[in-house]
Amino acid sequence: MMIAMLKDKQKAQLNMEWSEDAKYNSFNSMKGLVYYEHYQKILDWLDGNSYLPPPVECNLDPFAACNLSCHFCITQRYLRTNPEEVGNMRSLPPEYMVHLVDFLSSWGVRGLCISGGGEPTLHPGVPEVLRYAQSRNMKTSIFTNGTYMTPALIVALRGCQFVTWSINASDAETYQHITRVSLFDRAVANMKILAGNNKKPHAFICARMLILPENYKQIYDVCKMAKELGLDGFSIRPVDYERSDIIGHRKLDIPVDEVVTQFEYCHKEETEDFRVFTVTHKFDPYFHVKHDFNECWATPLLLPILQDGNAYLCVDKKMEADYRLGSCYPEPSQILSWWGSDAHRQLIKRVDIRKCSRCTFSQYNRQMEEVVRNDSMMVSFP
Ligand code: SF4
Repeated sequence: MMIAMLKDKQKAQLNMEWSEDAKYNSFNSMKGLVYYEHYQKILDWLDGNSYLPPPVECNLDPFAACNLSCHFCITQRYLRTNPEEVGNMRSLPPEYMVHLVDFLSSWGVRGLCISGGGEPTLHPGVPEVLRYAQSRNMKTSIFTNGTYMTPALIVALRGCQFVTWSINASDAETYQHITRVSLFDRAVANMKILAGNNKKPHAFICARMLILPENYKQIYDVCKMAKELGLDGFSIRPVDYERSDIIGHRKLDIPVDEVVTQFEYCHKEETEDFRVFTVTHKFDPYFHVKHDFNECWATPLLLPILQDGNAYLCVDKKMEADYRLGSCYPEPSQILSWWGSDAHRQLIKRVDIRKCSRCTFSQYNRQMEEVVRNDSMMVSFP
């Protein structure tokens, strides 16, 4: 009886993650199936073949500093709690990042995502590296808190395929409580300017909210704010409070039914020009971590490189010594000395998924197991 109720609860959440009109979206983990051939090559390599294809995407953290102090952020472990982990190199030199993009684009990497490690827009070289990657026909994206904006950034962000604005409150007071700073009005004003300058062909600008005990009553308000600002979308997912390296880690405890009611309101705001994604499929019905896969195989799809030039196995394992792949600094082609090496292969085989919290690649791992290894979709028969 209990299991049936749980299944119904999850089914209701999954059915409303996105509208039928927007089902081919970036949050839909079925996207992984377009990497089918890549999956095959990764598995062949894991089985002993010598060739591992380059990653599809590089996730680059140019900077280890942030002007906000969100307690649930995965970078807090090394930015605030153990800053000595960051070491002396807190920022990548701008000329190096251009050199890195040259290497990555020639190697065959398709996407460059400028992301965490802090707030990337505070790095003065980010507009140039984005524009340079765009000129090399790489798809680009950025995650930002939106508190800093310059004319050069606006131009570079408009050239991205998507821009994610992290915003976890609908008013200045809650924002200050969550981030410990008073930059709500500035962030909102900046996003209005960015959206106003976003002429077609344009970046998909999406507000992204994490569900927290402090903000779950504001979900609908943040969604409406994003729409009023002229953004293209609103995405929301539960915070991962179960990581052992965040302050006060525990299971998220919020009234899920209340959240789901707000999801319904949000979806009613959806139009052709404003999409809503209430993403819950990587969590159980209570928004707790779930592992519905057995092996970690998908990490070679993406290469995270940090501000000290070190690369790691997985975006969720940044700055963890056990998951360090190797260095890309000062010469990016050093990557070829460890990418696809036996040490790389062994590192993947050693991953114990029970020690992982929410897995960004959970469904990709599952697809590699079920669709490629077991051929459960019988792909020879379209
Ligand atoms: S979170 Fe763990 S299981 Fe998931 S991709 Fe990263 S290392 Fe692998």
